[in-house]
Amino acid sequence: MAAPVIARVEMALVNPSAKPVGVMPAEVGIWRANARHDCVSCGGYGARGRYTTGRTVCMCDCVARRVFRACLAAYREIHEHPFVQRVQWERQMGGQPAESVRYYQRKREDYCADFYLVAKRALAADLWPVFRAYFLEGCDWKTGTKITKLSRGLFFHGVYRIEKTLGRTFLTLKPYALFPLDEYFYGTRRRG
Ligand SMILES: [Zn+2]
Repeated sequence: MAAPVIARVEMALVNPSAKPVGVMPAEVGIWRANARHDCVSCGGYGARGRYTTGRTVCMCDCVARRVFRACLAAYREIHEHPFVQRVQWERQMGGQPAESVRYYQRKREDYCADFYLVAKRALAADLWPVFRAYFLEGCDWKTGTKITKLSRGLFFHGVYRIEKTLGRTFLTLKPYALFPLDEYFYGTRRRG
């Protein structure tokens, strides 16, 4: 018979040679929902223990990368379809449908601005050219390495660092995180 879910989560977080981790952060639910099921670091649970800093449980990189890719996909979708013709949003916004459309359009524009400005602020100076070439302009790696004058290895190392850094930033941004996207666009509240 399969072990209870809670016990399995604790097993994934605990160093086999250490005592169990005591406190589970409230965010562990959203981490697990966005973890890679075959991740070798977290076993699909989205969290892992950091024993060198007092066994603090932290978000796995696979979660951060998935968050980043979802945010990037939304950014690209808005750029490719900048004008919203119609939305069914009367219930959330109240008032007249035209007001809802205008509000939703503004949220999309705000999202693109937030995505860009948060990335600009969060990334180290050496990562910004990689981010701009590979993620914003959509260059392939050959063009990207020419623009950034980096080797292929360093270029993809930068790509990985960008995904990890921005995924964490987008998820933990205060007071309004970019992810989950439904919370950003529709104002639904995250369950604790
Ligand atoms: Zn993982």
